Amino acid sequence: MDPNEPRIRTLITEGQITARIRELGAEITRDYTGRHLVLLCVLKGSFMFTADLARAISLPMRIEFLGLRSYGDGTRSTGVVQITQDLTQPIAGEDVIVVEDIVDTGLTLNYLLDLLRARGPRSVRVCTLLHKPARTKQPIRIDYLGFTVEDQFVVGYGLDCGQRYRNLGYVGVVE
Ligand code: 5GP
Repeated sequence: MDPNEPRIRTLITEGQITARIRELGAEITRDYTGRHLVLLCVLKGSFMFTADLARAISLPMRIEFLGLRSYGDGTRSTGVVQITQDLTQPIAGEDVIVVEDIVDTGLTLNYLLDLLRARGPRSVRVCTLLHKPARTKQPIRIDYLGFTVEDQFVVGYGLDCGQRYRNLGYVGVVE
């Protein structure tokens, strides 16, 4: 290993993530029995979580992708959000689950929820892999939560630092 490469300290193992996603998938399957779902993957961070969560849900579903860019100084969000890729089909009348990688201040998700509600879905719920409650600026109802983390910058399992580390199978902290 390159000695100049930063070390990543594991916070949540691949096994813990797999087990928790199995539980979340079962819960969602139970809650939406008899319905069709739209799983809305918020790019880029939640691509891996969405892929695993989708396979843990036994319901008919459509998977949509929404590209968002949050402005900030790299590690801090400002709540100013630009859509870089919009949905390919309408969500009017649909049961939508927004799949997020992490809810930090809540500003990004709050903006996104307003935008989605204006499009007339039947329901919108939020499923996030991670939540940092210590940093909440805008309280948001999280319907399905993977793990709570402390106030530290995490990477892996879809989450990046300067576009790196998204491919790690676990969640960790850059040291
Ligand atoms: P919020 O608007 O809730 O403060 O931030 C949401 C977005 O900021 C997340 O979707 C994610 O892209 C980014 N973010 C917040 N905290 C972290 C973190 O600890 N690690 C990484 N990689 N991204 C984060």
